[in-house]
Amino acid sequence: MVREKTPAEIQAMREGGRILATILNDLRSQVKAGVSELELDAWVDQEIRRHGAIATYKTDEVNFPGSICISVNEQIVHSIPTDRRLEKGDLVSFDLVIEYKGMKTDSAFTMVVDDEPKGAIKHLLNTTERSLYAGIDAIKGPVRTGDIGAAIEKVLADGKLGIIRELIGHGVGHEMHQAPEVPNYGQKGTGTLLKVGDTIAIEPMATLGSAAIITEDDGWSIATRDGSLSAHFEHTVMVTPDGVEILTKL
Ligand code: MG
Repeated sequence: MVREKTPAEIQAMREGGRILATILNDLRSQVKAGVSELELDAWVDQEIRRHGAIATYKTDEVNFPGSICISVNEQIVHSIPTDRRLEKGDLVSFDLVIEYKGMKTDSAFTMVVDDEPKGAIKHLLNTTERSLYAGIDAIKGPVRTGDIGAAIEKVLADGKLGIIRELIGHGVGHEMHQAPEVPNYGQKGTGTLLKVGDTIAIEPMATLGSAAIITEDDGWSIATRDGSLSAHFEHTVMVTPDGVEILTKL
């Protein structure tokens, strides 16, 4: 059973979401050819502390060996920061959860290192991000998780992208992962009915090739089986009386 949030807890998620958005926005300027994943992880860790927040991945709830997931090219999510140095043109996904005043927020984005996205990569990035906003925009009036999934799936399918099905969005707040599940596919009118005050992470992941995935040897990193490039965009949002509020956007 998901606990109701108090007004103070909702406010904490607003403040924490803003801190998370600020860190991810500032991170963009740290990403350049030659920087290592571990250097970026250390920078993020320092920023989280500076804002008075906690790196959730490093807590007992997750026990991940890093403050942020840094997934490069064929890696989709959950990749451990290593001494690998980023190269111009790498496609990099950053996924971060922080805790602030006891409440968690979750957000992710994908970018190209030191270059403007072009061609198929531009299509992958634009379409995956657009599918996130289609899912968010589906939240108005009574909405079920299947309505969100259907909206995301339509954009990704129209864009001829592979839709990762094994990894899905989720409730977030007191815990990093809580009910309900929010798949990136579905049927309108099905799934869990959301109510005002619910907070969920919506996070489409898509590929330029097949949607089949593998877990890499480190036991954490999820990658495409065919080595195709992938993208991941995520926001934590709250259902409001009027529709939706994006908590992890500046
Ligand atoms: Mg996330």
